[in-house]
Amino acid sequence: MTSAQSSSRPRLEQAIKDEAGRLGFVLAGFTTPVAPPHSSAFEEWLRQGRHASMKYLANERSRARRRDPLLIMPECKTILVLAIPYSDPSSVARGGTQDLGHGRMAAYGWGTDYHVVLPKRLQAIATFIQDQVGHAVSSRGYTDTGPILERDLAQRAGLGWIGKNTCLINPRAGSYLLLSEILLDIGLTPNAPFEADHCGKCTRCIEACPTGCILPDRTIDAGRCISYLTIELKQAIPAEVRPQIGNWIFGCDLCQMICPWNRFAASEGDTAFRARAGLPQPGLIHELELTPDEFAIQFSESPVKRAKRNGYRRNAAVALGNEGRRDALPALERALHDPDPLVREHAGWAITRINERSAQDE
Ligand code: SF4
Repeated sequence: MTSAQSSSRPRLEQAIKDEAGRLGFVLAGFTTPVAPPHSSAFEEWLRQGRHASMKYLANERSRARRRDPLLIMPECKTILVLAIPYSDPSSVARGGTQDLGHGRMAAYGWGTDYHVVLPKRLQAIATFIQDQVGHAVSSRGYTDTGPILERDLAQRAGLGWIGKNTCLINPRAGSYLLLSEILLDIGLTPNAPFEADHCGKCTRCIEACPTGCILPDRTIDAGRCISYLTIELKQAIPAEVRPQIGNWIFGCDLCQMICPWNRFAASEGDTAFRARAGLPQPGLIHELELTPDEFAIQFSESPVKRAKRNGYRRNAAVALGNEGRRDALPALERALHDPDPLVREHAGWAITRINERSAQDE
């Protein structure tokens, strides 16, 4: 590093933020690699089994790393935390509607997978930092990919507060944000933490959640969260929560759609996360009957792949059952002969639900 560079560190921090902004990150801040403030709350959440089937969160190695980022990268001196917006569900075709026959998807599901988009941008920022300081810089980038309490770090880097819905919220940018972090081996001036809690007495998200998964201590009971049930859960969806899922077939945005702080957010997110060609999908019956090739083509480089084809078709069956349309019965009856037991069982549940609702209506 030249003496001119070392004496102009605030300018370096600003230059990094400017470069991050050029790459689409609307928020950026620096923090230190000390233990995140909610480490013990996270441990308690695990102890209570709120992580449901996500056992990878509870193994000792990942728990230790979440407590101590230096276990990930011992030479780390600074963590750069970044946020990039995706589109508001109301601006994404069908994402914010309840059209019968069409499943609802979380808004980020309509664009290209952030795991595909963001690593290249994180690498570009790391390269920019190296060019600025004039020597090699060790770095490690994450975007929901590593054992890091990223919302905690984002709050400590000044990006926003953690709302009662557990999302990171910024007063200007709202909460339709994807977070990333770059661990760096150079010391940069940390930003002041975001201390304010702008949730106040509001409890809209808690009241809006159909499964009641938002707990009073600002944690989520993952086993009841529609995002978990439709994406992470690989087995059968518990029968008692199926009716509450409505027609969400990949994730859920309800606790963010209701949040008043998203009124001020820009409705269009980064272009990479806008609805891709080929979406919205033709309809729930079509989704239930997607072949492996059709699923692979339709969701190439899409986050929906995470649900896997049969998990996604399981979700479509539940949505059809909840919509109650009798014209879905032939497709559901065909699904009773599906090779996948998960699809068969959920199709059977949907048929029963449609018939029961028809009987009640008579
Ligand atoms: Fe906070 Fe209300 Fe937004 Fe929930 S809906 S995160 S309580 S401001």
